[in-house]
Amino acid sequence: MPVLIVGSIALDDIKTPQAEHLNLLGGSASYGAVAASYFTPVQLVGIVGEDFPSEHIALLESRDIDLEGLQRVPGKTFRWSGEYMLDMNVRETRSVELNVFEKFTPELPPSYKKATHILLANIAPDLQHHVLDQAESPEFVVADTMDLWINIAKDSLVRLLGRVDMLILNDGEARQFTGESNLLKAARAIREMGPKFVAIKKGEHGCLLFGDEGEFFTCPAYPLEELHDPTGAGDTFAGGLVGYLASRGGEVDFSGLRQAVVFGSVLASFNVEAFSLERLKTVDRSQIQARCLELQAMSQFVIPGL
Ligand code: AMP
Repeated sequence: MPVLIVGSIALDDIKTPQAEHLNLLGGSASYGAVAASYFTPVQLVGIVGEDFPSEHIALLESRDIDLEGLQRVPGKTFRWSGEYMLDMNVRETRSVELNVFEKFTPELPPSYKKATHILLANIAPDLQHHVLDQAESPEFVVADTMDLWINIAKDSLVRLLGRVDMLILNDGEARQFTGESNLLKAARAIREMGPKFVAIKKGEHGCLLFGDEGEFFTCPAYPLEELHDPTGAGDTFAGGLVGYLASRGGEVDFSGLRQAVVFGSVLASFNVEAFSLERLKTVDRSQIQARCLELQAMSQFVIPGL
């Protein structure tokens, strides 16, 4: 089953307390697509300008990512610049240049319209709606979002929740969106707006997964001493999660989602080990499986006599 992924494709400038790198491949769809490609073929929808380096196209093609839905137009590619503080959970956006993104309308080529598994990676909610308007047979739709859209496009985001099966967001965004400080209450409030499942990411503290009443799973983040660039961790998580679900096929249930959350978390742990997609693109299946097993071992416990 291919996964349809729509989102941003960017050239990023990233500064961390240790290093600064310019003109990196970034964007929610780039990370999501490469992560999903470890499990299943990907159909990508996005836009780049004429300055987009051909080596990035080659990387996406090498991962079996279908680029028929990638619009290549005159002008400059979307650019984003961010700086991480000593606490790498804290990030400031330094600049955003929309460029070709300003006039982007995601169009699905005919072969994409039959996609059953769809990741609406982080872009404006109106564009996420436009993708769903064209999808003919969606079975499992996951949406990601960010604080910007909660601030400036909340109505559209709320309407989107009625059309998706799962929302992924981070803890701060869940609080901002719902006005609830308690994450269990925040997840309940989001589920009441539509999606059956909610994943709340807590950075280095892992992820909470919520389903129907009583369905709850907490997944630790894979512990890392060397964290180089957290950019795209959330997008990688989402791509890995949807890619795994598509490869599994069949109806999505909570036990499948628990596994998907583990795969997403493990892929994100590789992604943050280097800038841009430099580490993510070199992972192999045996490394992914090894970290899944380590996570399993470190998070299970037995209490004798209970
Ligand atoms: P994350 O670290 O998961 O928040 O994702 C970081 C990626 O999101 C970067 O590679 C950026 O290029 C991209 N990005 C930043 N701002 C936006 C935006 N407003 N819309 C879409 N993508 C964005």
